[in-house]
Amino acid sequence: MEPLACSEIFDRLEKDPNFRDSQNIPKIKVVTTDRSTAIKAVMKKKNQLRQQAKEPECKHGADLWHYDKNITTDLRKLCKAKYARPLRPWIPSLRRFIYWSPQSSRGMPKGTIAEKLMSMVDHIQNVHEFPQNKHFKRCSHGMPAPSRLKYIAKNSILLTKLRDIISGKNNSRINDANSLEECGQTGLNETLNSLHNMYAPKYLGLTHQTMIIKG
Ligand SMILES: [Zn+2]
Repeated sequence: MEPLACSEIFDRLEKDPNFRDSQNIPKIKVVTTDRSTAIKAVMKKKNQLRQQAKEPECKHGADLWHYDKNITTDLRKLCKAKYARPLRPWIPSLRRFIYWSPQSSRGMPKGTIAEKLMSMVDHIQNVHEFPQNKHFKRCSHGMPAPSRLKYIAKNSILLTKLRDIISGKNNSRINDANSLEECGQTGLNETLNSLHNMYAPKYLGLTHQTMIIKG
């Protein structure tokens, strides 16, 4: 349903004169969604149509809120294990790092966000210089380690686990890092949707009018 809804809404807004400028150029420049492959395919198709019509591309950005949520969920799952206890206190710092990486990389070359995200693995070992990187060579913001945060040993399995979480399955997460550059966030929509679900749960079949009243 979501790809269909995305496609329909995009088409309607594209046709709406309020979303076109005085030269009839579409005003929608960026669309932010989660990293669903079905939505990626929809936006690819929309951009092919724009290209045919000689209209500017609409950027498809990944939602930073979902990106953080997915990584944090994996981290919390990992940290339930006893051996992963040393990583637990790092979670708030790592989450701030996830938000900081794209926000501090606007206008920078592609690949910078991915390098920053991957550098989290080095930071937690007290390594702050990355000569192997192309763009992000050294820690620029500092990641102070208060006394409760202890650096992770260089040979720890936790480093491999953290690297795997940041990379995602088949590197899909880190390969999508560039699409975070717009720093779009759908957190507010998600909050509104969960409020709607409270008054009009998905397991109840309601009439259209009742949905409007409850929504
Ligand atoms: Zn650092």
